[in-house]
Amino acid sequence: MKEKTVEKPTALSAELCPCQSGESYAHCCAPLHQGTQKAKTAEQLMRSRYAAYALQLVDYIVETTVPSQQTLLDKAALQQWAENTKWVGLEIVSYQPRVGKTQSAVEFKAIFEVDGEKRFHHEKSLFVHIDGHWFFVDPTVPLPAMKQPCVCGSGKKFKHCCGGLL
Ligand SMILES: [Zn+2]
Ligand SMILES: [Zn+2]
Repeated sequence: MKEKTVEKPTALSAELCPCQSGESYAHCCAPLHQGTQKAKTAEQLMRSRYAAYALQLVDYIVETTVPSQQTLLDKAALQQWAENTKWVGLEIVSYQPRVGKTQSAVEFKAIFEVDGEKRFHHEKSLFVHIDGHWFFVDPTVPLPAMKQPCVCGSGKKFKHCCGGLL
């Protein structure tokens, strides 16, 4: 992890976690952001990604995306978006631990402020479990054709794996 990722959480550790868990940051998403703990569930990963957006930890956003998609992410755009957006809340609408053999889905509303006005981003995200880690499957980057191998590395065709769940 880069220095920047470690610095910010220290100052924040006693404050409430941005993911709205009601826990202090130190006991919630900080250990995930610092890499000392891994998310046990897709929901926990989703929360920690929201908190990472709120804290502008773009490296964490990249690292928690499915490995085959990481190079497709526009880091500068992610950074800019994180910097220019004031995240004010998160509501988990539903959590489906098993939508596929190795996949979970989390539906959420992320609330943010633009020009003093509250708006929300409503999304149902797909997560896949690979080698003991949860990863986010990003539907906004170029995806393989339906007959091509899946982004998660399962060896199955995309349409029969994560592609069928997006
Ligand atoms: Zn948290
Ligand atoms: Zn897959």
